[in-house]
Amino acid sequence: MHVILHNVMVSAFVSCGRIDEAKHLFEQMKERNTASWNAILVGYAKGGLKVESFNLFREMHEADVEFDALTMATIINLCASLLALEHGEKIHGLVIKKGHVNSSVVLETALVDMYAKCGAIEKARIVFDMVNDKNIVSWNAMITGYSKHGYSKEALILYEKMQREGIYPNEVTFLSVLAAYSHTGLIEEGLRISISMLEDYEVEAKAEHDSCMVDLLGHAGLLEDAKEVIEKMPIEPQVSTWGALLGACRVHNDVDMERFVANRLFELDPQNPGHYVLMSNIYTAAGRWKEVEDIRQMMKIKGVRKDPGISWIEINNELQIFHAVSKMHPQTEEIYCTLRHLTLRIKGLGYIPDTTFILQNVEDITKEEEEESLLQHSERLAISLGLISLPEKSTIRVFKNLQTCSDCHTATKLISKITDRHIIVWDTNRFHHFENGECSCGDYW
Ligand SMILES: [Zn+2]
Ligand SMILES: [Zn+2]
Repeated sequence: MHVILHNVMVSAFVSCGRIDEAKHLFEQMKERNTASWNAILVGYAKGGLKVESFNLFREMHEADVEFDALTMATIINLCASLLALEHGEKIHGLVIKKGHVNSSVVLETALVDMYAKCGAIEKARIVFDMVNDKNIVSWNAMITGYSKHGYSKEALILYEKMQREGIYPNEVTFLSVLAAYSHTGLIEEGLRISISMLEDYEVEAKAEHDSCMVDLLGHAGLLEDAKEVIEKMPIEPQVSTWGALLGACRVHNDVDMERFVANRLFELDPQNPGHYVLMSNIYTAAGRWKEVEDIRQMMKIKGVRKDPGISWIEINNELQIFHAVSKMHPQTEEIYCTLRHLTLRIKGLGYIPDTTFILQNVEDITKEEEEESLLQHSERLAISLGLISLPEKSTIRVFKNLQTCSDCHTATKLISKITDRHIIVWDTNRFHHFENGECSCGDYW
């Protein structure tokens, strides 16, 4: 059978999710070209088979198969989803070496997106500025990148530039622009954009846009209005929508509303350990110990397990993974010693360990161990390793699978100040850029 026909069949299997059959056919093919390899590579990537995709890419490299823009874009998207910056940079090097630069807007946009997602927003901008025929996906990648990094001003400047260049925004653009407005507290402008979205651009608001509106109103302290937006939503509000209001309650210290929202979250998602922690924290703050104990018991009875917190950092091209309380790393002693030393120094700047978050990570501990247990939060272990291992003054990038707790947030701000380091933490929803004692999120997350 001709190779082109084979390729079509492999792609057909891939597009209906029959990866095993696609792979079988691919392995039987006597003649394969770049398109054949791409077909199976795209299949793996779509099927979430990340390791297999990387192995296949390596095989292609070893078999001297010519890469094209699609091969490169697929593998760069994978690096972005794995938050593997050093790998992504290597592939970027290969793109340049193979002469694929400026060959495809899809490939260049994939690079912008990869750099932004992996925490290297300045590099994303350098690549973005070199893209020749920017399309809406390219603009969105950069605007969303800025917005997720808390660089709202830059996001809004770019949004204006995009319009001047005659590109029409779409629903993705509006999500980032609304987020940027709420972050900068430009509530009127945000409201105007949300109206213009439908009236001028005929983009209908989806649940995500409503969440952005909740965030916008919440930031401005208009909690009742934010609650009204949620209650008027045509579809059942998602956990993330209530979550947006919750963040606002915390910042604006509205305990009644916080309790109301926590109850909604509890009903919506009773197996989520985060919601138990949240309720427990609210009762702890109010000194209602009986309720705190009730919640602990409820978690035991319902078998709710706390999500294990994991953080990771890339050092010398290798991912170093930390679990909370973990003492498995070969440099454990040095890591803990650095943390204890840093804690002493930041206490001098007024840091008071906030032990209300203990339940999040450690069960049944005595009061004396509380402070030590805060040191053991996985992101702090990763940051400490970064401080020890990375060259002086270099940026530290840590990724985390859960939202950061407020004690780690406070501690990291101060650590960035005393060590004079730029520390970037990704916590599933946004990047926190810690620099000189401040965070780009403005303590809002
Ligand atoms: Zn923490
Ligand atoms: Zn922050």
